[in-house]
Amino acid sequence: MSKARVGMYAVKGETLERTHRSCPKCGPGTFLAEHADRRSCGRCGYSESKTPPPSKAKAAKG
Ligand SMILES: [Zn+2]
Repeated sequence: MSKARVGMYAVKGETLERTHRSCPKCGPGTFLAEHADRRSCGRCGYSESKTPPPSKAKAAKG
């Protein structure tokens, strides 16, 4: 008798790509390190700034 195996990993490929973006220079094999406000590649040094959340970005200049 085999019990029903509970899927421990319910993460789909789409979700994985969303959390970790791949480096545009190194290719899809290399992922960018997640930072508070930006992502950086530890391989080639590529870095890109994250888009700030709409709630926090609502600040009037001046
Ligand atoms: Zn890279």
